[in-house]
Amino acid sequence: MTKSAAANIRPIHEHGANVLYQHGTLAQLVPGLLEGTTTIGDLLTHGDTGIGTGEGLDGELIILDGVAYKIGQSGVAEILPDDFTVPFASVHRAAFQYQCERADIGLEDLNRKIVEANGRANTFFAVIMRGTFSFIKTRAVIKQQAPYPTLEQVADQQAMFLGHDVKGTMLGYFSPLMFNGAAVAGFHEHFLADDRSIGGHVLDAVLERGDILSQVFDTLVQHLPVDNPEYRSHDFSNDPIAEAIAKAE
Ligand SMILES: [Zn+2]
Repeated sequence: MTKSAAANIRPIHEHGANVLYQHGTLAQLVPGLLEGTTTIGDLLTHGDTGIGTGEGLDGELIILDGVAYKIGQSGVAEILPDDFTVPFASVHRAAFQYQCERADIGLEDLNRKIVEANGRANTFFAVIMRGTFSFIKTRAVIKQQAPYPTLEQVADQQAMFLGHDVKGTMLGYFSPLMFNGAAVAGFHEHFLADDRSIGGHVLDAVLERGDILSQVFDTLVQHLPVDNPEYRSHDFSNDPIAEAIAKAE
């Protein structure tokens, strides 16, 4: 990973490509505030690329090129309609810049090297990896019904998927440590196979060969469901936010 090229990637201000838009906040999921408070249609007005989850933790969402997909219990991706509701999602307008090409590298190593190379540990940025993954391990949380359980209660209710020699796209957002709670500190990555046969929240991967592109944000727009009754009345003072996020994500 060439340090100089990666370090030169800066926010692009045309078309609002410097803005990361987030609806809801990860900490809301901890006590089970899982009602869908925005829609895919609305999210798509703020970006053409993103990740999130559906109402009641209904699947793992990935938005690529303006199309929203859900990976549910089957592990197979389906395209979502505009009225599908969402409690938590991050989206942005894609203007990725080429960072490097990598071969035969595990996810943990890759993520660490990306941050090292771009020197952006205190900056929100997105990374997209397109290529062949010799190994991919993903999960999808099982959809919950109201009254919703806490995030810790659903942490073990998930379907796991394994893929080998899969062509696809991994999209991740990096959040600075000081924003843990608003998002997962570090990387949060979702995957979609080109043939949509596998996808979800990425637990592990090995990139056989692929291009890595990144996009740096200088602005976070944090939109909150201010008129949702549960959100308005919830008392967060006793919720174990950092512990639950560390355990579930
Ligand atoms: Zn996820």
